[in-house]
Amino acid sequence: MFSVSLELPEFKVVKQVFHEEFFHLYFVKKSREERYPYCRYLTDHVHDRRTRKVRDLKVLEKPLYLFVQVNYYRCFNCDEVFTQTFDSIQPNNHQTTRYRDCLYEQCLGLAIQTVSDTLKKSGLP
Ligand SMILES: [Zn+2]
Repeated sequence: MFSVSLELPEFKVVKQVFHEEFFHLYFVKKSREERYPYCRYLTDHVHDRRTRKVRDLKVLEKPLYLFVQVNYYRCFNCDEVFTQTFDSIQPNNHQTTRYRDCLYEQCLGLAIQTVSDTLKKSGLP
């Protein structure tokens, strides 16, 4: 079994594939109900489902890809179909929020380094 803590408590791992260069984990959301944000109606009627490939942080120095089952629920109150939401992945994103945050921080770190190098080259204290 996968022994590294993933810290994605909203998901359940249903399948895992370990390759030489990367890991693939297949996730479903634990909650089987979803609330339509507009009318607040709670439904468990899955209208359709797709799989979204989502890039996550590296685990054991290898890239981790999540194959997340995304359910489309039907609200019987307004007869609308809506997409399931996740705490750790923003709507329509193909990266986890923590991966995006990490990328942002790396970019920020790089920018600071560049500024520092520029100052050194210019001979200013
Ligand atoms: Zn509704």
